[in-house]
Amino acid sequence: MKLFSRSKPKIKIQETKNEGFNGWLKCSHCKELIHIKELEQNVNCCPKCDYHYRISAVERIRLLADTDTFVEMYEDMKPSDPLNFVDTEPYKDRLEKAQKKTARNEGVIIGECLLNGQEVALGVMDFSFMGGSMGSVVGEKLTLLIEHALKECLPLIIVSASGGARMQESSLSLMQMAKTSAALTKLGKASIPFISILTNPTTGGITASFASLGDLIIAEPKALICFAGPRVIEQTIGEKLPPEAQKSEFLLEHGMLDCIVRRKDLKGKVSSFISYLHQEKLPKKKKTRSLEAVKKNKLVTLESTYKK
Ligand SMILES: [Zn+2]
Repeated sequence: MKLFSRSKPKIKIQETKNEGFNGWLKCSHCKELIHIKELEQNVNCCPKCDYHYRISAVERIRLLADTDTFVEMYEDMKPSDPLNFVDTEPYKDRLEKAQKKTARNEGVIIGECLLNGQEVALGVMDFSFMGGSMGSVVGEKLTLLIEHALKECLPLIIVSASGGARMQESSLSLMQMAKTSAALTKLGKASIPFISILTNPTTGGITASFASLGDLIIAEPKALICFAGPRVIEQTIGEKLPPEAQKSEFLLEHGMLDCIVRRKDLKGKVSSFISYLHQEKLPKKKKTRSLEAVKKNKLVTLESTYKK
């Protein structure tokens, strides 16, 4: 049962009674005092030590997509509870809470956008929705995105942030690993590039499926990327792992990643990778479809329903 109720570390904003001192926080990494505004301006990276704090899925889309070009797909698809699963609380209640908290139906946002003028299919996992866990709907949405990329011949980008498969959906969650991987095989056979971006944390069934199948696998600095987390490994083998094992830098050194890119440079780098892969690999692309027709309505949905 403790698997379902682990404590979640968060950075805490220090509130002081004196006016004008609100909004300061202590960086959990370098322990320096930084202001929340400074952090926001720096795309949620510590201005002192460059530690990359988590950003929401919507902020991630803003970071990668050209302004006002993201068109969301399948946002109405909702998860169900086929097993009537109850752990410390019913799965239905957990879903409701997560939906209320994030104002979204599930833990992934998928759609199309322009990235430095290049049309791409983009999927972003939302860690704030039940730890970014992959249930059947998350798997289905990602598979639909992959199939969409295949059909429309669009380069695919998926940004992962996840605690793994969703335990409350049991083997139905596990099957999503095979499903997404099978869809990516088709994409690979059609020589359409897939860039997988791993952010802190990317673990469990996500690492063990689509996130590790990118033509290029990019990670953010110091991100935790693993299958089983350090705590589980320690409990299993009875030994402590080196402190930096399972971090991006260690994985890059051991050949699991292609590169580590700072958040500030992410869009530029991804864009140049795509233009390279696009020229090299993509079959002749059909004329770019217009995003104009639908984008306004969809953007309203994305911007207005997501609570910060
Ligand atoms: Zn810091």
